[in-house]
Amino acid sequence: MTTIIDGKAVAAEIRADLAASIETLADADVTPGLATVLMSDDGASETYVSMKQRACEEVGINGIHIEIDPEAPAEELYATIDDLNADPEVHGILVQLPVPDHVDKREVIRRIDPAKDVDGFHPENIGRLVAGDPLFKPCTPHGVQKLLEATDVDPEGKDVVIVGRSDIVGKPLANLLIQKTDGGNATVTVCHSRTADLAAKTKQADIVIAAVGVPELIDGSMLKEGVTVIDVGVNRVDADTEKGYKLVGDVEFESAKEKAAAITPVPGGVGPMTIAMLLYNTVKSASLDADVAVDLP
Ligand code: NDP
Repeated sequence: MTTIIDGKAVAAEIRADLAASIETLADADVTPGLATVLMSDDGASETYVSMKQRACEEVGINGIHIEIDPEAPAEELYATIDDLNADPEVHGILVQLPVPDHVDKREVIRRIDPAKDVDGFHPENIGRLVAGDPLFKPCTPHGVQKLLEATDVDPEGKDVVIVGRSDIVGKPLANLLIQKTDGGNATVTVCHSRTADLAAKTKQADIVIAAVGVPELIDGSMLKEGVTVIDVGVNRVDADTEKGYKLVGDVEFESAKEKAAAITPVPGGVGPMTIAMLLYNTVKSASLDADVAVDLP
């Protein structure tokens, strides 16, 4: 029997635990605050930001949302970040990526105060992660780690193949899973578009994590029996639905399910975890800022 890993349920548990931590903070007159900044009129980015804001509201985090005209000069975004860095009510700052071409993405990431960098993308936070002393783990990789834990799949001693080497998923995830700590101790191979014979790599893996952005790239024939499959991919493909499309992952679910002991669906797998871990980082940031101890899930 294949376990379908229910990311929505795991995320809901984490959110419930966070709500308890937020009450502890409220007793000390602290309300965590998360600022989201959107400089884009891309529909998917708008949807992601509104999902994050709604999640804040549900759990008791003060959500602040700022929209900047995508045509505005880059300096307007930089000045907004400076203001948010200085605002004591803001504990987390999230600039929704991608930003327009005339904005320097690296400058955006570097400009956010590392103590408010709840995405975990600032070089200081990446450095801490690599050094095994993370402050804020990037949300999607952290969500994947939590999903494995919730499924009782311990990466220790396992062969893990991550397909994708992006700065936001593949690279930080590889770093998390090789750490000499609980939830780590895996032997990790990172594959990408120049990998020779991807199937040979995925076929020997105990855990396959796909973060590629290519619909259904990995199918059952590329997996070994009993594998755990975590599908980070979210891809829109044309379909005869009301919206004219449907969402599929980077893994061909039906054939992969035949081989897997456990597998995440898309949607309803990693996606809800990314948002839950963003809330987690915001609560952690508020707790550190106010010096009020909370139990984090
Ligand atoms: P990027 O486009 O930044 O990175 C994609 C990676 O996949 C690159 O390393 C690329 O290789 C590699 N790749 C592309 N084609 C192939 C191929 N044919 N074979 C092997 N490797 C390949 O993507 P992201 O990491 O930002 O996102 C990946 C997916 O995850 C997307 O579908 C995105 O929507 C989704 N996502 C989902 C989230 C969630 O919360 N569920 C959060 C973040 C992302 P190279 O480096 O050589 O170009």
